[in-house]
Amino acid sequence: MPVERKHCQCQDTQGHFLARAFARLNVELELQALLLHPFRETTISVPLKVHNDGKEVLRTYVGHRVQHNHARGPFKGGLRFHPGVSLGETRALAQLMTWKTALVGVPFGGAKGGIAVDPAALSLDALEVLTKRFIQKMAPLIGTHQDIPAPDIGTNPQVMAWILEEYSKSHGYTPAVVTGKPLELGGSAGRLESTGYGVACLTQKAASELSLPVNGARVVIQGFGNVGSHTALRLAELGFHVIALSDVRGGVYADTGIDVSAALRHVRATGWLEGLADTEPISNAELLELPCDILIPAALEATINCDNADAIKASLIVEAANIPVTHLADATLRERGIAIVPDILANAGGVSASYYEWVQNLQEFPWDHETVIRRLEQRLLRVYDEVRDLAQRRGIDLRMAAYELAITRVAEAVALRGF
Ligand code: NAD
Repeated sequence: MPVERKHCQCQDTQGHFLARAFARLNVELELQALLLHPFRETTISVPLKVHNDGKEVLRTYVGHRVQHNHARGPFKGGLRFHPGVSLGETRALAQLMTWKTALVGVPFGGAKGGIAVDPAALSLDALEVLTKRFIQKMAPLIGTHQDIPAPDIGTNPQVMAWILEEYSKSHGYTPAVVTGKPLELGGSAGRLESTGYGVACLTQKAASELSLPVNGARVVIQGFGNVGSHTALRLAELGFHVIALSDVRGGVYADTGIDVSAALRHVRATGWLEGLADTEPISNAELLELPCDILIPAALEATINCDNADAIKASLIVEAANIPVTHLADATLRERGIAIVPDILANAGGVSASYYEWVQNLQEFPWDHETVIRRLEQRLLRVYDEVRDLAQRRGIDLRMAAYELAITRVAEAVALRGF
């Protein structure tokens, strides 16, 4: 799907979900406008000399930070390095963070950032310079109580460490300015795997509520990065049967189940899933349409859309990625009776653990891994129950119930603060 079309779908989708929720909640038009419009949008260009075919060339990379809403606390959201990053996509993802932080009850607002770059095409040195120059220009807008970035697609603890270093040059050592850091620099035990663990925990919960056979249920996962790999590892530990995995190059399939630890070792050694022993190659498009019990999109937006919604065979979709199902596909899937755990709930383990990391940094007192994961799972299961109860009471789907809870909380904070 062309990049621009995908971004359109991502903003339209967000708009449609909100419009349905606003109508159900009778939100006045003036308040709708306030809740929809971002507080601030910043676009930054970063010139950088890079090596191309042995020659040094000057490139200008464009990045954005959209700070959507801070009624409930400092802006919070990931930083994405991907060639498809655009202002429109960043805006939709920033807004999603506002609803996500409100839904899971962490004291943050919503933001998102990104640079349109393929990080795999840059040397580590060039990536460091790019990150630090971006943060130099962003420094007046971020801060422990202003805006706290975190990892997303194409960024990792190393990138967060560079952010910490660049910000600390002018503000003194400030670990709480960014989450998802390496442990050595004030990162939290469990943060790296938190999003995937949260997805796995809620997959288990939703599967048991749908009476799917947890032991041996067949799971397909698109995307084998931070979120996809930790989801797969945890689900395999819990007794699920992971039958297909993919990355940007394509997928691998094994009807008898994939050894997820071996897949991770293979990716660490070769960079890709391609060629994994005891599996057959499969395309990303074929993977989404495989017969299975549970489908977990853990890569990009709009991967489940009008072109494939009719062909999805899973009984349950758990949205590990942000906005992976377009609004039109969502309607088709609902009509077909396919249950969906929505992104603002399914992948909220990441921002929950980011909150714990921030708290530990402010307290200068680290928690152990068991404490982080226990608190994370308790929080997600409690929120799941709240969402499911509201959905049952009102006869609506989990997504609408999640949006209703989130919008109500943000609207209350906006009113109390007199925005
Ligand atoms: P990542 O960069 O670590 O991994 C992304 C994976 O998706 C890789 O395996 C990549 O090869 C694959 N991929 C990229 N383009 C693809 C395509 N066109 N088709 C199929 N696969 C493709 O990123 P991540 O941190 O795992 O994030 C994945 C998703 O989860 C994103 O939607 C992100 O916004 C969301 N998310 C991440 C976090 C987090 O803590 N990292 C938290 C919440 C939500």
